[in-house]
Amino acid sequence: MTSPHAGAARPYLFNDRTVEGYRRAMAAATERVADRIRRADRPFSGVSPERLTPEIAAIDLERPLHDHAAALDELERVYLRDAVYFHHPRYLAHLNCPVVIPALLGEAVLSAVNSSLDTWDQSAGGTLIERRLIEWTAGRIGFGPAADGVFTSGGTQSNLHALLLAREEVRTNAGAVPSRLRVITSEAGHFSVRKAANLLGLGPDAVVTVETDDERRMRPAALARELGRCRRAGLVVMAVVATAGTTDFGSIDPLPEIASLCRSAGVWLHVDAAYGCGLLVSRRRRHLLAGIERADSVTVDFHKSFFQPVSSSALLVRDGAVLRHAAHHADYLNPRRMAERGIPNQVDKSLQTTRRFDALKLWLTLRVMGPDAVGELFDEVVDRAAASYALVAADPRFEVVTRSPLSTLVFRYLPQEGPGRKLADDANLYAREALAASGEAVVAGTTVDGRHHLKLTLLNPETTLDDVAHVLDLLAGHAQRYVDDLAPVADHSEVTHVHS
Ligand SMILES: *Cc1c(COP(=O)(O)O)cnc(C)c1O
Repeated sequence: MTSPHAGAARPYLFNDRTVEGYRRAMAAATERVADRIRRADRPFSGVSPERLTPEIAAIDLERPLHDHAAALDELERVYLRDAVYFHHPRYLAHLNCPVVIPALLGEAVLSAVNSSLDTWDQSAGGTLIERRLIEWTAGRIGFGPAADGVFTSGGTQSNLHALLLAREEVRTNAGAVPSRLRVITSEAGHFSVRKAANLLGLGPDAVVTVETDDERRMRPAALARELGRCRRAGLVVMAVVATAGTTDFGSIDPLPEIASLCRSAGVWLHVDAAYGCGLLVSRRRRHLLAGIERADSVTVDFHKSFFQPVSSSALLVRDGAVLRHAAHHADYLNPRRMAERGIPNQVDKSLQTTRRFDALKLWLTLRVMGPDAVGELFDEVVDRAAASYALVAADPRFEVVTRSPLSTLVFRYLPQEGPGRKLADDANLYAREALAASGEAVVAGTTVDGRHHLKLTLLNPETTLDDVAHVLDLLAGHAQRYVDDLAPVADHSEVTHVHS
């Protein structure tokens, strides 16, 4: 090995003397991705971890290639070729959206300029742009002039942040001990609520789930009962977390009723709109979020229903003063005197210190396309989900759980009466895996009332009803093949043996 002569690394530094190299490297990367996207005839290659692990393990990280093109060739082989492509119309699995080009423009700019949105002296205009977007989002929610917030890495962080603020409000006002604190959410609420409670040092019983109705929305009567039970037991409910767009069912909890119950009980209301936030820009469905303006805090994930690349998310609060609970003044970074001089910073409001300028992606999206255009894209997928529901509901091969006001579809393949029926759970599980391995489409799965189900999450306006119909046929085919192969066995033995 020859050791590189002094200064050989300098051309890799991005500066005034290397901009030509930067242009060429970025153009080459853009070309690779464009080519991949143009040629992707399926959302996934179906690659297994077994095949990819040794390829990645074999790369010697001590031996650099010294060449952008060579590194991109290698990347083609270990990543680009087998990546899961969310832009493909038959990617129907999780809450990943295809992204809009203005946001990609933002991504390119923000990583190159590399502002850090903690203090003014590391971001200047970036701080103000983020603040305008927070104001804009708060306005869409219907919060008043006292509202504030901050961009976060995702819904998980936003939920944690909201619950931290709620806990501090309770601690300063009621002085309750952590083991007496409770958070109420619905059975269909997101698991990050539990994670947050854990991180906040609440007890193992801190999160109480209340039942949902047939459409998987929190039952206000059940919430009222639980609030009463906690009060009588001397427990302090520090927050109710309502979900505007549950991850599995896209259901929206009845926000006005929940807000009224929280108001009379004096409890913090957090609305987790990680998924449903796209309705904020819908001209046809904004009413589905009615009541959100009565929340104390709201989670929005722009990387779910605003067609933004990961990450782009925010926490909004009705009263900006509560953000002080997460503030810390460090002499080296954000001493009190800076705030007193009116120099804006975002670190006083954030759980993070160094933080990406993710807001820039939304900024360019709004400046190029405008909010109505984003809402239109989301409305289209919601329309498509409604049509897909009708399709599955009318199909005797499947049973469907509920009709989502957003864009998910939870259903299962139901083998015909007879010995095959017993195999339904495994057949659905198998169908999903077989479909992913074929790469023809990617769908998700979940458990509903203890049974394995299949889930489509539609977030791509390019997905047609024909795509959905085709995927349903593929799933039914895989599931039925599984049943046909194993039904004779199941006839004679217990279902639990089918895996052997
Ligand atoms: C996705 C989701 C989250 C978590 O958001 P991340 O951005 O993945 O961290 C929280 N709540 C709901 C309802 C979600 O759908």
